[in-house]
Amino acid sequence: MNILVINCGSSSLKFQLIDSDSESVLAKGLCERIGIDGSRLVYQPAGKDKLTFEIPMPTHKQAISAVLDALTDKGHGVIESLSEVGAVGHRVVHGGEKYASSVLLNDDVIAAIEECNDLAPLHNPANLIGIRACMELMPGTPMTAVFDTAFHQTMPKEAYLYGLPYRMYEDYKVRKYGFHGTSHSFVSKRTAEFLGKNIEDMKIIVCHLGNGASISAVLHGKSVDTSMGLTPLEGLVMGTRCGDVDPSALEFIAKKEDLNFAQVMNLCNKESGVYGLSGGLSSDFRDLESAANEGNAAAKTAIDVFCYRVLKYIGSYIAAMNGVDAIAFTAGLGENDGAVRKQICANLAYMGIAIDDAQNAKRGEEVLISTPDSKVAVVVIPTNEELAIARETLKLVK
Ligand code: ADP
Repeated sequence: MNILVINCGSSSLKFQLIDSDSESVLAKGLCERIGIDGSRLVYQPAGKDKLTFEIPMPTHKQAISAVLDALTDKGHGVIESLSEVGAVGHRVVHGGEKYASSVLLNDDVIAAIEECNDLAPLHNPANLIGIRACMELMPGTPMTAVFDTAFHQTMPKEAYLYGLPYRMYEDYKVRKYGFHGTSHSFVSKRTAEFLGKNIEDMKIIVCHLGNGASISAVLHGKSVDTSMGLTPLEGLVMGTRCGDVDPSALEFIAKKEDLNFAQVMNLCNKESGVYGLSGGLSSDFRDLESAANEGNAAAKTAIDVFCYRVLKYIGSYIAAMNGVDAIAFTAGLGENDGAVRKQICANLAYMGIAIDDAQNAKRGEEVLISTPDSKVAVVVIPTNEELAIARETLKLVK
């Protein structure tokens, strides 16, 4: 069955058409600047060059329409008609406490996602726009919602509750939810398979290190803790997000700079992280590393703060699970940056973790980067959220 995977943001939309039998990508692409002048579709059929089309996309409906036209085009299309799309899997960021797994979309589910809008005001409304536009253009095609939060719904209370008055949880559902769940689930499963072990017997820490970054503790296949919280701002120092800070620091900054709440949150989300720490140099580790190598002290500090925070979370999750069998690195930085992986693991030597430099230099494949005698297996597992969404979708529509 061909499954269309849609990841709809406020002004962009990523898609992949996946053949679920072979798990191969037939075509993929991205609509940019939806609702803004200069919108375009970048479309890549498998094994062929990328094509770019300048198409007016005042709303998401036009964007999805442009995607469907490209997929069925006589020249560069990969299917003859839309009847060859068996199902659509939508990435949805926040499922609140209601969804601990993916679901088939219907009016009730849409209403429930809408109820989570205030928990993810930047993401859920955009996801819903994509869902509704798709339903209009492909009536009758089964569709699913695959939630970023679902995998972490197995966290115990002691992990997800904040030390706030309990009624904040009861009245407003203020708690840790966690994100990147599709990736943490996919990578933890692959880690066990790759090591030839049963996930039910394992304690795994997954480090999803991209521009957005989070860590999870996966005990016997279930997420028992994760670094992101009510929103994706908590936890690690990220590309431009600050991660954990003393909440009082925010009030202090607001007073000093005469900022309102929205402005402080903007500072935390967009001007902080390694970008902010490096004095606005870059949020990309490739830039930071080359600057650090040329003697830029701020860039080096940014990398050090990032690695130290990851290390602290790994340490705390080893404590949370009373041990660890495997640590997996994934996402843009986790998959590509051997220097960062090595720096993070250096302080884990007391646990008998040792990194094999030759293995750690490999790229673009699943690889064991710890030495054969390392007491804990350290692996790099490329994540594939689209494939995970396609698999979930197939399970639901079969
Ligand atoms: P997201 O999906 O959160 O936008 P990605 O998982 O695509 O992020 O990761 C993007 C980040 O990965 C970049 O900002 C960069 O810091 C890092 N990255 C990607 N490739 C490399 C590389 N070759 N070396 C070092 N860092 C890299």
